[in-house]
Amino acid sequence: MFSLASGSAHSSGCSVDTLPVFAGLKPEAGTFVPRHIGPSADDVASMLATVGAPSLDALMRETLPEAIRATKPMGIGPGWSEVDVLAHLRTLASQNEVMTSLIGQGYYGTVLPAVIQRNILENPAWYTAYTPYQPEISQGRLEALLNFQTMITELTGLDIANASLLDEATAAAEAMAMAHRVAKSKATAFFVDAECHPQTLAVLKTRAEPLGIALVVGCPQTDLVAADVFGALFQYPGTTGTVADPRTAIDALHAAGAIAVMAADPLALTVLASPGELGADIAIGSTQRFGVPMGFGGPHAAYMAVRDAWKRNLPGRLVGVSVDSQGRPAYRLALQTREQHIRREKATSNICTAQVLLAVIAGMYAVYHGPDGLAAIAKRVHGLTTALAAGLKALGVTVETEHFFDTLTVQVGAGAADILARARSAGINLRNAGHGRLGISLDETTTPATIVAVWGAFCTEQSRVEAMAKTLAPAPSALPASLVRQSAFLTQPVFRSCQSETDMLRYLRRLADKDLALDRTMIPLGSCTMKLNATVEMLPITWPGFCDMHPFAPIEQTKGYQALFADLEQWLCAISGYDAVSFQPNSGAQGEYAGLLAISAYHRANGQTNRTVCLIPASAHGTNPASAQMAGMKVVVVKCDAGGNIDLEDMRAKVATHAQDLSAVMITYPSTHGVFEESMREICDLVHQAGGQVYVDGANMNAQVGLARPADYGGDVSHFNLHKTFCIPHGGGGPGMGPIGVRAHLKPFLPGNPAAEGTAQGTTLAVSAAPYGSASILPISWAYIRLMGDDGLQRATEVAILNANYIVSRLAGAYPVLYRGAKGRVAHECILDLRPIKDSVGVTVDDMAKRLVDYGFHAPTVSFPVAGTFMIEPTESEGKAELDRFCDAMLAMREEVRAIEAGKLTAEHSALRHAPHTGSMVTATDWHYAYTRQEASFPPGVNPSRKYWPTVSRIDNAHGDRNLVCSCPDIAEWME
Ligand SMILES: *Cc1c(COP(=O)(O)O)cnc(C)c1O
Repeated sequence: MFSLASGSAHSSGCSVDTLPVFAGLKPEAGTFVPRHIGPSADDVASMLATVGAPSLDALMRETLPEAIRATKPMGIGPGWSEVDVLAHLRTLASQNEVMTSLIGQGYYGTVLPAVIQRNILENPAWYTAYTPYQPEISQGRLEALLNFQTMITELTGLDIANASLLDEATAAAEAMAMAHRVAKSKATAFFVDAECHPQTLAVLKTRAEPLGIALVVGCPQTDLVAADVFGALFQYPGTTGTVADPRTAIDALHAAGAIAVMAADPLALTVLASPGELGADIAIGSTQRFGVPMGFGGPHAAYMAVRDAWKRNLPGRLVGVSVDSQGRPAYRLALQTREQHIRREKATSNICTAQVLLAVIAGMYAVYHGPDGLAAIAKRVHGLTTALAAGLKALGVTVETEHFFDTLTVQVGAGAADILARARSAGINLRNAGHGRLGISLDETTTPATIVAVWGAFCTEQSRVEAMAKTLAPAPSALPASLVRQSAFLTQPVFRSCQSETDMLRYLRRLADKDLALDRTMIPLGSCTMKLNATVEMLPITWPGFCDMHPFAPIEQTKGYQALFADLEQWLCAISGYDAVSFQPNSGAQGEYAGLLAISAYHRANGQTNRTVCLIPASAHGTNPASAQMAGMKVVVVKCDAGGNIDLEDMRAKVATHAQDLSAVMITYPSTHGVFEESMREICDLVHQAGGQVYVDGANMNAQVGLARPADYGGDVSHFNLHKTFCIPHGGGGPGMGPIGVRAHLKPFLPGNPAAEGTAQGTTLAVSAAPYGSASILPISWAYIRLMGDDGLQRATEVAILNANYIVSRLAGAYPVLYRGAKGRVAHECILDLRPIKDSVGVTVDDMAKRLVDYGFHAPTVSFPVAGTFMIEPTESEGKAELDRFCDAMLAMREEVRAIEAGKLTAEHSALRHAPHTGSMVTATDWHYAYTRQEASFPPGVNPSRKYWPTVSRIDNAHGDRNLVCSCPDIAEWME
């Protein structure tokens, strides 16, 4: 076999097929496909026999309605070898020019400690984990998130922080929406400090409009009329670098019953008085500079912290401490009722996937450096900035910023372009703030040489700069004396216990060992598509050419990224049938929101402002109604029939009722019930005839790629969860990417980003802080599609569907399968009904989920979309042996239930009720259970040499919610 290992030969993303000279010497096309797809050809044959289908193709014909089938190949070409894909990505990375970016504006250079890079970011034990809905197998990442929350409450001086939000700008929008809900003031305007980052302002505008909130942008000292607003946002330090004291403004807001929000830089907070001390009610910001590379905009973890009074209004996930059945402390997600799938149309936020992996990294950065280390970094950065300012002043440059932390704004008038150009030729990007003003932000990576180079951009007299370099030294502090931080922070033991690399390494390993991720077992979570995140796909994300790019770098420096986006857009269009893609939304839910905004803008452009009703079937994912709500739409729920399908009669009736004001219908396809509804085309036609638009929730693309295209059967817009179908790992609950595909008529309404030159796509304002969302993880999806090619992608879909039907064949005799398609098949997932078991013997769906842990499995999706059920999605990546291991465990559990049915013991006395069993439980001297220790920990099929031991037993959620503790114990409690 020959391998064409040269990347440059196909640098424009064209297929190697087009290279005439090498025809016949193609790389080993498709060699990755059998690595990605679990079942071998023999396994597929035997599984087809089990499900009773003559061939994969025949199974597909029994599963997908003929009316929606794609009629031609996608045209992506053959799959490439891993070697070729890496070579090509290396070329793309090299086409990005990595400069020293001193642009600031919310994004800074940072040093990711190698021990964290290797053992978290590059470690599948962390990045392939799922959102910790099953806390007993998630204690490691829950502890890491608790560290993050504690770090945030300590730095901000507020009482309670969530476990991350998507980015600083959307966090600001969430804070505004929250302030609107909780403020005593009945005003309808929100004040935004002119010192806020422009991308934050852009996202606030987007969010404010459908909510009917008016924004007032101005200077807090002169323009804020507290009585006229329900809240205000201050940036601290401001986007120009200035550090202003917000206390007078905050007092005025409070006197008027309004809420004060501060967007604060966590590194600055180590040396500046905290938002809590200044009286702020809410603090938000980005933790990017705590070790997370800029990544051309993301992913990074944003944070939100609030006063105790509003803990129940906090959007996003919150980790809390509770106790397990043995009375030991244990972590779990607190206040689960805030989860959006329960709030549905009453939801106030659509946040689902957040930024867990990045929050874990930022939290560990704080653990590793400790409070003294963080303060030392901050002081060094500040010292360098004072030196920079002094030098610039000595050179006669007008430095506008008097009080600053790490950022200066200078006024250079007509000389700006020359200075920018000189800086660039020295490898440095400065911020062009317009009107002759330049911004310079220093960071952890800045060296004295960087400062000398910046001086050189302002002064062509080489000898003068050289002379100044010799005396480069910090000038006196430029922090306002009244705002210098006096309070201690990060006093908890965890922030003092891992300052050697040995300790850190072992701490990370210890936490990872507590968790079940894809590196140990299948995670059969329906709707979440926990498939292989191949190592080769992950390698490029830490290459400097991708991860060290500033999101607002001049466009000519980002050619590699632009080429990657162009390929990916073309492929996603080929896969979906759409005409254009926006990469801005950084989660599926943000994609929904962006898509619905596009639909609204389209109706408005057609003069149909009355079209505000959004029809959503009862089976929809909770983010659908939440996003519709946020987009200013009125949600009308459409019923489902007994077969789980959208009730066509009800749909017809509601379309007719709302014909005049129908904006959109949101349909998940195949449905969250795991079936391809026959009526999909008919529903789309119906909605179009009434003048509405069709939003197809693309979370289930893993059941369609290569077989059906949403745009062909009626979709106008869809989001693609790249962290589901397209192999971006879930990271324990983020990052993700939710780009949207649209048909041509919606293209003008895709999100733009006024903060980035040359990238504005459409007329709709920004939905994310960065123009391309979490750009640095897009190489993962690029690699996946390029490795698989047309045939591999289609085969993946077919095997995903085969695997689900195989599970149905093996388990349907033991558990009723709730919904099936017209010919008795399920799509890529299936729902098992456990309610009859609950009704007959009292064993709950939770008992079953927890008992699966004893068998070494992560539970399927519990009680979504139907309460009391398991939704199982095996994906194509799981081989037959693993599927059998899972089915055997499910069948063995059914036998445990049968013993209760036969009256041998009660549910209360069964292993099901007391699961999961920890090592300390089964080795305790006293054993008072009605089953043996052996039965507890080694139920049938569990190989003792592969045993997974949970570290906590069943967690008491109610206890944790009654006694809410959401940060690490402090030193005093520790010493008790
Ligand atoms: C996962 C999912 C979403 C939300 O995606 P996030 O990336 O978590 O915001 C929406 N709809 C369906 C059907 C999903 O499965």
